[in-house]
Amino acid sequence: MSWLTDIARPAIQALAPYSHADWEPGLVRLHANELPWRSASDRTVAGLNVYPEPHPQLLMDRLADFYSVPRGMLLAGRGSDEAIDLLIRSYCECGRDAVLITPPTFGMYAVAARIQGAALIDVPLRRDDHYAPDFARLRLALTPATRLVFLCSPNNPTGNVWPRNEVLALARELEGRALVVVDEAYVEFADVPSLVADVAATPGLVVLRTLSKAHGLAGARCGSLIAQPEVIRLLQKVIQPYAVTQLTIEAVFDALQPANAAQSAARVAAIRRERERLAMALPSTVAIERVWPSLANFLLVECRDPAATLRATHDAGLLVRDFSRTPGLHNAVRISIGTPEQNDRLIASLS
Ligand code: PMP
Repeated sequence: MSWLTDIARPAIQALAPYSHADWEPGLVRLHANELPWRSASDRTVAGLNVYPEPHPQLLMDRLADFYSVPRGMLLAGRGSDEAIDLLIRSYCECGRDAVLITPPTFGMYAVAARIQGAALIDVPLRRDDHYAPDFARLRLALTPATRLVFLCSPNNPTGNVWPRNEVLALARELEGRALVVVDEAYVEFADVPSLVADVAATPGLVVLRTLSKAHGLAGARCGSLIAQPEVIRLLQKVIQPYAVTQLTIEAVFDALQPANAAQSAARVAAIRRERERLAMALPSTVAIERVWPSLANFLLVECRDPAATLRATHDAGLLVRDFSRTPGLHNAVRISIGTPEQNDRLIASLS
């Protein structure tokens, strides 16, 4: 046994996974109580009348190749949201274990921890230093019950990245005690390498990637958790069979075709250009006082009057995200980078 599974909940270590119907695509399926005919509306290749592969190995191998990680080190699920939930449900015993987060950050870490009954340890980012992480405070805040440390890089909503060397040093320091989970939902928009390349040599490191952002597949719901094979096998016992639908499996294979992947890369470049254009233009509008530097596909801005900003954008038919009441943020609104025309409309609405 490895420490990577020893620190999981005892019930999960001992869990016998659900025994699903055999997966033998060459044979006629009279074993899973499906209908033998396809629906007239069914446009998929494999057919929606049959269950998809219970744990879609071909898809996971394709994603592992795409992210350049060894096969067997990747688990696909319904977005990174599912990966966050699986980690917390598998590693945190209700009422005993803890999750460390660094607010202001992505809200699902705290929600998933509360649902599981795990304790939450908050180590705020430092607004007075561009929302830089506070490693000294983080180390002091860790308890023996801390099982998971969530670091979001680039961070939602502040847009800054965590320094690679310090994250790797932390993961090594916590070996035997806790996993360091780096959520890289927005890494394609940043000019920094992904930590997926470090997972093989850093056993306590887990990296989350998603097709929802840079690849334009938010509606398909497909995220990847990259970790040591022991962690993958443990979480595979917990994830529901058939979690990834046939519609999603086929959409992902299509999206990862070289021509489509090249289009995603071009769009990421366009978003980065627009991000810089907006970052230059917004501070000269009447509404915006400050734009935080961002390496993601959004900008965190501070407004003179957040309510007026929200009204003005709404009147222009634009939805932006209100963070004005979030602790650690100040009169803040988060704006996703849109098309050049949408961004022009945004600038006009705030001017
Ligand atoms: N992580 C971060 C930092 C996010 O901002 C989001 C989506 N807002 C997610 C994960 C969830 O992404 P997915 O669509 O892959 O579930």
